[in-house]
Amino acid sequence: MRPISYSRATAVADAVAAVAADPTSDFLAGGTTEVDLLRQNVLLPRRLVDINDLPLTQIEDRPDGGVYIGALARMSEVAAAPAVRERYPMVAQALELGASAQLRHMASMGGNMMQRVRCGYFRDATSPCNKRDPGSGCSALDGFNRGHAVLGVSDHCIATHPSDVAVPLVALDARIHTEGPRGRRVYPIDDFFLLPGNTPHLEHPLEHGELVVGIEVPGLPAARTSLYTKVRDRESYEFALASVAATVTVENGVIGEVRLALGGVATKPWRARRAEEVLRGAPARTETFARAAREELAAARTVPLNAFKAELAQRTVVRVLETLTPPESPS
Ligand SMILES: Cc1cc2nc3c(=O)[nH]c(=O)nc-3n(C[C@H](O)[C@H](O)[C@H](O)COP(=O)(O)OP(=O)(O)OC[C@H]3O[C@@H](n4cnc5c(N)ncnc54)[C@H](O)[C@@H]3O)c2cc1C
Ligand code: SF4
Repeated sequence: MRPISYSRATAVADAVAAVAADPTSDFLAGGTTEVDLLRQNVLLPRRLVDINDLPLTQIEDRPDGGVYIGALARMSEVAAAPAVRERYPMVAQALELGASAQLRHMASMGGNMMQRVRCGYFRDATSPCNKRDPGSGCSALDGFNRGHAVLGVSDHCIATHPSDVAVPLVALDARIHTEGPRGRRVYPIDDFFLLPGNTPHLEHPLEHGELVVGIEVPGLPAARTSLYTKVRDRESYEFALASVAATVTVENGVIGEVRLALGGVATKPWRARRAEEVLRGAPARTETFARAAREELAAARTVPLNAFKAELAQRTVVRVLETLTPPESPS
C-alpha cells in the first residue's frame, strides 16, 4: 500500500504553492483520469491537492462576443450553457459525445485539457512505454495499434490525443489561462498541446504546479453554424476513431471563413491548416472538400492496424463539410 496525503485548497495561490513545493504531488479535480491512473499504478503521487473548492466554475460572456470557461466548470454544465450552445454548437456537441452522463457531471474542463492518453500500454504499468517511462520503448509500434494516431506521430510515440472538446477549441483558436509559480500565463491552444517528438513524456509546456484556471474562447460569429462529428466503434461511451470539428461560410458558392480540426487521428488535437488553405476561396463542392481532406492526410504515417484511419478521416471531413454547405436551392 502506498500512503497518499490529501488536502483541499480554497485559494488558487495556495493550490499552486502546495503542488509547486512538492514534486510528488498532483492536482485533483473530478478525478476521472487521476484516480483511474492512480489505481493502475501509472501515476504515483504521494500527495493530492483537491482543487474543487476553488472559484473557477464561471461561464462568462466576453466583450468580443466570446466566452470564458472556468477550469472547474463541468463538461455537462458547459454543454448545457446557452452561450456555448448558441455561439459554438460544435463545442456543445463534442462535450455531449464524450464519455458518459455520469462522467460528464464529474469531469472538469481543466481536467479534460490535461487528461492522459488511452493507449493500453501507457495504462499497463508493466509494458515498455516512452511516455510513462522515458527511454523504455514504445510497445504500440509493433503491438495492438488500431486506435493510434496517423498524424503528428514520432518513432517514440503514436498515442492519439483522446479529448473531444479540445478539437473544436483548437478550431476556434481558444486560449488556455494558467496560474503558476511564476504568475499568470496565457497559451494559444495549439501551443498548449505538444507533439511527442523524442520527448513524449512532455505533453504540455506547463511547469510543475502550474494550474489551468480557464479557457478563453474568442468570439467568432461564423461558429454559430458549426458541427462536430465523431466516428467510433459504438455509438456511446467510446473514444473517436476519427472526428471533425468545422465551421465554414459560403457566399455565391465560394468558401470564405473556414475552421477545421481533427480528433482521433493525431497525437494532439489537430488543426487542419493545409485543408483550410485549399478550401479558402474555392468553390464549395464535394471535389474541393475531398482535395482538401486528401492534402491534409497526405502526411499520414500509418502502422498496419490503423491504416484505415487516413481514409476514414478524409471521408469524415467531406461529410462534415457537405452537411455544413447544403447546395443552394434554385430561386
Ligand atoms: C470511461 C471514460 C470514458 C471517457 N470518454 C471520453 C470521451 O469520449 N471523450 C473525452 O473527451 N474524454 C473522455 N474521457 C476523459 C474525461 O473527459 C477526463 O477524464 C476528464 O475530462 C478529466 O477531468 P477531471 O476533472 O476528472 O480531471 P482529473 O482526473 O481530476 O485530472 C486529470 C489530470 O489533470 C490534472 N488536472 C486537473 N485539473 C487541472 C487543472 N485545472 N490544472 C492543471 N492540472 C489539472 C490532474 O492532476 C490529472 O493529472 C473519458 C474518461 C473515462 C474514465
Ligand atoms: S504509443 Fe506512446 S503511450 Fe503508447 S506505448 Fe507508445 S510511447 Fe507509450
